[in-house]
Amino acid sequence: TILKHVRPSLHDLKPYIPGKPIADVQRELGIDNIIKLASNENPAGPSKRAQEAIQQSLFDLHRYPDGGQVVLKSELAAYHNVSEDMLLIGNGSDEVISFFCTTFLEPGDEIVVPSPSFSEYKFASTLMAGRTVEVPLGEGFEYDLNDFANAVTDRTRIVFLCSPNNPTGTYIRQSDLEAFLQRISPEILVVIDEAYNEYVEAPDYAQGLDLLKKGYNVAVMRTFSKLFGLAALRVGYTITKPEIVNYVNRVREPFNVNHLAQVAAVAALHDEEHIEVSRKVNSEGKQALYEGFRRLGMKYIPTETNFILVDTGVDSKELFQALLRKGVIIRDGGFFGLPTWIRVTIGLPEENTRFLAALEESVKEMK
Ligand code: PMP
Repeated sequence: TILKHVRPSLHDLKPYIPGKPIADVQRELGIDNIIKLASNENPAGPSKRAQEAIQQSLFDLHRYPDGGQVVLKSELAAYHNVSEDMLLIGNGSDEVISFFCTTFLEPGDEIVVPSPSFSEYKFASTLMAGRTVEVPLGEGFEYDLNDFANAVTDRTRIVFLCSPNNPTGTYIRQSDLEAFLQRISPEILVVIDEAYNEYVEAPDYAQGLDLLKKGYNVAVMRTFSKLFGLAALRVGYTITKPEIVNYVNRVREPFNVNHLAQVAAVAALHDEEHIEVSRKVNSEGKQALYEGFRRLGMKYIPTETNFILVDTGVDSKELFQALLRKGVIIRDGGFFGLPTWIRVTIGLPEENTRFLAALEESVKEMK
């Protein structure tokens, strides 16, 4: 049969199941006024300046995008105070994760990842017939980087650290990261996925960029999908050493980031008003949800991101359905191996209030 020659590594691969789109729920349940707190999107919406930049670019749709991503790279280089040859831009940071695995993994090579964490690392390594070594996070989902150093073998090619981590919201501390990098062979790439970096409030958070600038083999990953509110456009990027960019760039399709995405990203990067509002909505919403969870007697993990992991004490799959019937979409912790937990994105004030009321009611129904 034709399937005989499908690559064996694909047998174990399951397609990624994203947070349920609003339109799907509307169609299935026939209800309006649905709120989606499932995919860690920015509830304040996209940057107006990005929207305007797109409007103005609609006349250029017949042209190919800038394959060298020159303007966006030069803006990002200035923004981060790095040289342009340290940047590589992807169709979302999802694509950048794939780039790293495609560049570094031969069949049987290993990546080391936290657990629970973002599923894309394992997906990308499996695609290259790589092995994924999962390191459990500690009590309260704290990082202990000694466990990561101990998981490294002579087949390890990449260590993926997600900080702050999805779905836990926990982060790596400055002093811990440098000690870890000192222990790790310089032949291993340490990718620090900082998708939620712009939300961090903790003063002892390890900025991957500082360690890159000190000369360690670090690749920092950032995205425009979260604080910058451009998830639909798919723009993520890495900052790393030019020699690494030089190779990773060989696996990139020439026009991987479309034109509208590039112009919108440049505009959003400088939209101070949007950035400020987005941060404010998040930090106020965080406090409101913390208070709600305390009132309900639910244990939550303090977060440095735009989402919160909370132990509801009931079956999260059932709870997911109960909330869905009330028009609230969240992420079921079962997906991460946490069957009584849910991950909820911090929303607008009225969304948080409605979520908390729906949560209280659903849990009562289930008990
Ligand atoms: N890394 C982490 C930790 C994430 O949570 C996400 C988004 N869910 C991504 C990467 C992917 O983001 P992007 O939209 O840039 O592909």
